[in-house]
This record gives sequence, C-alpha cells and structure tokens, in this order.
Amino acid sequence: MPQNIPVVEKILSANDKLAQENLARIDAAGIFAINIMASPGAGKTSLIERTVRALSPKYRIGMINGDIATSLDADRAAAAGAVAVQINTGGNCHLDAVQLQSALDQLDLSSLDLLIVENIGNLICPAEFKLGTHKNVIVASIPEGDDKPHKYPSMYRGADVLILNKIDLLPYVPFRMEFFSQGVAALNPGVTQFNLSCTTGEGLDAWLGWIDGQIKK
Ligand code: MG
Ligand code: ZN
Repeated sequence: MPQNIPVVEKILSANDKLAQENLARIDAAGIFAINIMASPGAGKTSLIERTVRALSPKYRIGMINGDIATSLDADRAAAAGAVAVQINTGGNCHLDAVQLQSALDQLDLSSLDLLIVENIGNLICPAEFKLGTHKNVIVASIPEGDDKPHKYPSMYRGADVLILNKIDLLPYVPFRMEFFSQGVAALNPGVTQFNLSCTTGEGLDAWLGWIDGQIKK
C-alpha cells in the first residue's frame, strides 16, 4: 500500500472530529447550517443573495464565504442583509473544518438562526471535507451542461439537496434534462431537488420554503 494513503485517512478523520465539534457549537446555538458547493459560476452567490434578501426580515443570517482571493461574494451577502465572514484560502481548493472553526469564532452564534457557508467553486474535492453543517447543497446550472453528475460523482453522491439553477436559459442552451436526471438518480436517488432561476425568481419559493421548514425544526 502506498505510504501516503494512511496519512490522508488520518487528515480526514482529524477533520471529521473537528467537524463534529463545529456541529455541536452550531446546534448549541440553535442554528440551521448549510454548506453550498458548486463549480465556479453556477450561481452560489446569487442563490445566497436571493435567499438572504427573502429570509432576512424573518431570520438572522450568517454567511461564511470561502474564496481563494477577494471578499466580493461576502460583500454581496452583507449587502443583502447577512452578517458575513470572509475566509481567503490562499489557493486551497476546498474549505475544511479548521477554517470553519475560525470563521465561527468571528460570529456571534447566539444571534443567528441560519448559517450559510459558500464553499470554494470546485466540483472535485469539497464534498470530501466535512465542515460541521447540517446539510450539503450542490448547485448545478444549465450552461454547465447535462454531463456534470456523470463526471463528478462524489459531489452528487454526498448532496442532501440539489439545486438546478439558470433554468431560464433552457431555451437557449442544449441541455438534456433526462440525461442529467439519469446521472443524478444513479448516484443519489430521491435527493431533494429544486429547479430554479436566480435571475427570474422562477422556482425560488419552493427552495425558500424548504429552508424555512428546516429552520423551524
Ligand atoms: Mg461565489
Ligand atoms: Zn480541495
């Protein structure tokens, strides 16, 4: 067995342990927390903006943004009404539980109802690293193409919720819904799915209703 495999397993299990501690803090504060993952440009930040604008009159929302550089996305979430914390990973391609822990330290958790984590735009590895959130949300989008579940199985397998964004572009982009859905069904049958457009607002109410129901639990 190659030597590096036990090392990787050790790193992952240390990460999982810390993720459990993060989750315990989040639960103790009575917060519902989601981890949003997608490729760059799928619409994570637009979805977060829409969600914060719709729910911030009712709930207090924290947003943790992971990006390799800049705080552009955290600024957008803050402008929409969230308390936003920026994590610049300096080149790292995913968030991990250590980074979430230090972001949690910067938030007054007792003042929040909902915590949204925007992971790094990447379909390869973010799902391998637990953070300590309740639900993993993957955002796919019409212009990315219908083959993504087939090409990036680990991301789709681990998701609790799948959002298919930019459905307003369906008339203009070749996208075989059936081929996409076959890929999803093979990896994650019965996953909760919302088809929507953050541009037109179509389909957003079902997603917002789902989050609302989760916060109330
Ligand atoms: Mg973004
Ligand atoms: Zn990575």
